[in-house]
Amino acid sequence: MHRYDTEVIPGVTSVSAAAARLGEPLVEAEEVLTILPGTLPEEELTARLASTDSAVVMKLGRTFGKVRGALERSGRLDEARYVERATMDGERTGRLADVDPESVPYFSVAVLPSRVAPLTGGPAKEPVREASGEVVVVGTGPAGPLWLTPETRGALAAADDLVGYTTYVDRVPHRPGQRRHGSDNRVESERAEFALELARRGRRVAVVSGGDPGVFAMATAVLEAASQDAYEDIPVRVLPGVTAANAAAARAGAPLGHDYATISLSDRLKPWEVIAERLAAAAAADLVLALYNPGSRSRTWQVGKARELLLEHRAPDTPVVLGRDVGGPEESVRVVRLGDLDPAEVDMRTLLIVGSSQTRVVRRRGGAEQVVWTPRRYPEGG
Ligand code: SAH
Repeated sequence: MHRYDTEVIPGVTSVSAAAARLGEPLVEAEEVLTILPGTLPEEELTARLASTDSAVVMKLGRTFGKVRGALERSGRLDEARYVERATMDGERTGRLADVDPESVPYFSVAVLPSRVAPLTGGPAKEPVREASGEVVVVGTGPAGPLWLTPETRGALAAADDLVGYTTYVDRVPHRPGQRRHGSDNRVESERAEFALELARRGRRVAVVSGGDPGVFAMATAVLEAASQDAYEDIPVRVLPGVTAANAAAARAGAPLGHDYATISLSDRLKPWEVIAERLAAAAAADLVLALYNPGSRSRTWQVGKARELLLEHRAPDTPVVLGRDVGGPEESVRVVRLGDLDPAEVDMRTLLIVGSSQTRVVRRRGGAEQVVWTPRRYPEGG
């Protein structure tokens, strides 16, 4: 390289050749194409295939069984195409699911073509999938795509219909052909039945929540509706997500490192007496508390009341983490003393973490950084 001038002449990759021989567009609009070596571990392949739109998996041969397994586990086997010796003698193309693993040479690739193309007038060939309708309940994480799991990202992209509270549906990028049904935050059971009805008609429906769908969110409403005889046969899957408590805790340090309780302060769906009893019991048990739904414009007194109850069991200098819009554009994470907790600083985008008697606040790096953590060891007899 140092002694001779070198020029690199571009060539035609097997990726382009394979797509051309299939006669199908690889990517359209805002789809993402991922090129994967089949030598990756199956788990890694599965996650990558689940989260991408289009893909080409190279280096098949001996890796074929593993790649097929990853396509199956990521729910994408039906879409997968196989191309062997593209543009050469002995070329072979077809559905990957039909290929005999023993017959696969190194000179072959797996292709997941564009999912958008069939909708925008691309060549109409074999049906893209055989799967029938289902409801997938997903959570988009506390904010932003960094906390969206690959599985959830894939489910959102694959859905025919998105159903959920408008705030959460709006977080999902638009896709051609996908229908969006945003609604008010209140009508959970109607929304759940609506999703099940769509699935009954053969649609793939993603019901969207923030955070984790099973934490004060839509998964329960969907399963409650699905438990009625009328919806007995509709498949429902719940996918795990990152919940707000995990995000807020990570920003502050590790306040949830020991036993903790999760309580919603909203008395919209349960009486305040129940909340008060649970707060008192958890506080008496010296559990760290993750408090969801602490307050809103219309619910303003709950935080003050909770503070009063907690102060009966905890010292005023117990650390409280206020995580607001964690991961979002208005993120703020602050640590105050329980005695100084000001309800006016808490809104519906805030999560509170109240320390136990063991939770520590430590300044590091010359005081520039403050971390909160709860030790995993508990004092004996404490
Ligand atoms: N399913 C969601 C929780 C829904 S309840 C989850 O698993 O996170 C709504 C409450 O979650 C809010 O009132 C707030 O307490 C908390 N929350 C959700 N996103 C948050 C964020 N980005 N930052 C801080 N708190 C958040």
